[in-house]
Amino acid sequence: MTTRVGIMGGTFDPIHHGHLVAASEVASLFELDEVIFVPTGEPWQKSERRVSPAEHRYLMAVIATASNPRFWVSRVDIDREGPTYTVDTIRDIAAQRPDSELFFITGADALGQILSWKDGDRAIRLAHFVGVTRPGYELSAEHLPSDSVTLLDVPAMAISSSDCRDRVVAGHPVWYLVPDGVVQYINKHGLYRAAP
Ligand code: ATP
Ligand code: MG
Repeated sequence: MTTRVGIMGGTFDPIHHGHLVAASEVASLFELDEVIFVPTGEPWQKSERRVSPAEHRYLMAVIATASNPRFWVSRVDIDREGPTYTVDTIRDIAAQRPDSELFFITGADALGQILSWKDGDRAIRLAHFVGVTRPGYELSAEHLPSDSVTLLDVPAMAISSSDCRDRVVAGHPVWYLVPDGVVQYINKHGLYRAAP
């Protein structure tokens, strides 16, 4: 039987409830059997700032998703050498799950950039893209082929990882913006304490 698999790529530095709500909503509306969160390896679009070590970002994603039987975290991007490109992410997951239909979940800010990604045109042929609303960004699939992309309204979560990091630096709470276990992980390892 074909399984329906969602892929959510991201830096996840840290993973927050905006990511989780988006994945949960798409999983429900698209009747996905599972959603795989894929933390990026070596950063490329974010080279202007230092990104936390991949192992921390991976473990926070595991903590955040552990209680959901349909959510998983993959190491494909972390374990691949070099910068992360979405086309490689989708190819690797497709190879691991040959009988599945893939849905790549992305927020409004990232959706418009797909065709500027390396082999972006190929990426949209390997998976169906689901663009979700994100406060502060306009959701549009203007330059993308309409049969490869679906736009979806998800509950508005005005949360970003950047804001969570800034809050930690400023000594403000991140409780309820990220899962409790992630708050504790950030504190335990002293993440984000120094300004990036
Ligand atoms: P940063 O501020 O470091 O860029 P971020 O909050 O944007 O972090 P990413 O890891 O860059 O998180 O995003 C991973 C994916 O999740 C992207 O497709 C992004 O558009 C989507 N996303 C992030 N936050 C939200 C949100 N609050 N609502 C909907 N989608 C989101
Ligand atoms: Mg982002």
